[in-house]
Amino acid sequence: MSCLFCRIIKGEIPSFKIYETSKVYAFLDINPLAEGHTLLIPKFHGAKMHEIPDDYLAEILPAARKIALALGATSDDTFQYNVLQNNGALAHQVVQHVHFHVIPKPNDAEGLGIHWPGKATDFDALKKTHEVLLKKMEGKL
Ligand code: AMP
Ligand code: ZN
Repeated sequence: MSCLFCRIIKGEIPSFKIYETSKVYAFLDINPLAEGHTLLIPKFHGAKMHEIPDDYLAEILPAARKIALALGATSDDTFQYNVLQNNGALAHQVVQHVHFHVIPKPNDAEGLGIHWPGKATDFDALKKTHEVLLKKMEGKL
């Protein structure tokens, strides 16, 4: 078993554990974008999100919520944060075991920086995309 994060789950490589259930494991990122940057992973090996069974994924967001609360999330903007999950090298994935980043955003300089090149579109183009995607979704639900 050579996967880095599988080895972290097994305790073969040390990590600063934040949270654990039978299905998920969370630990501090070794190169944090901000203090408290946490990685949350399923205890199921798969490189990309769509390879992970639903019962593992179902525990991810409740765990991410607990982590966010522990980091300081409240109902106002005192503590702000991003949840990020990358799939593929182009999409900035480095480690080939699915992981969700919970990243505090304390100020402009720290935390996640986002480049968001939104493109102009129109109703007809969106309608076409909608029709195609809806057809493809039918078999996946
Ligand atoms: P990604 O670019 O989404 O694949 O992110 C991989 C993340 O894993 C990076 O933020 C790394 O800092 C983090 N990372 C790599 N090795 C370790 C490790 N041994 N312990 C904790 N975090 C790690
Ligand atoms: Zn793995």
